[in-house]
Amino acid sequence: MSENQRRKAANEAVFRDVNERIEELQRPFAVAERQPLNVVCECDRLGCAEPLSVDLATYERVRSDSTLFLVSPGHEDDSIEDVVDTGGGYMIVRKRLGDPQEIVEATDPRG
Ligand SMILES: [Zn+2]
Repeated sequence: MSENQRRKAANEAVFRDVNERIEELQRPFAVAERQPLNVVCECDRLGCAEPLSVDLATYERVRSDSTLFLVSPGHEDDSIEDVVDTGGGYMIVRKRLGDPQEIVEATDPRG
C-alpha cells in the first residue's frame, strides 16, 4: 500500500469524526422533526467538505460498520474502496481489506 493510499484513508477517517460531532448536534432535531442529517462527504479528496443529506437510520447503519463511509456520488475512489449502496444524494463505500481497512478501524471513534 502506498503512502498516498494511507493518507487517503486517514483523510476519510477525519471526516468521519467531523460527522460524528454533527450527528451528535443534529440528532435531537432529526428525530423530533424526522429530518435528514446534514453531514459532509467522507471522501479522500483533500479540501472536500461537500454537504450530504442522509437519513438518521442510514447514517447509523453506515457508522455501525467501521469500514463503511458516506461520500458524494462520483467521489468514491476505486483504488481503495467499493461502492456497496447508493441513495438520493450519497453513496456508501466499503474500504477494501488490508491497510486502508486497518487504518479506518484503528481510528473508529466508536471502536
Ligand atoms: Zn467528497
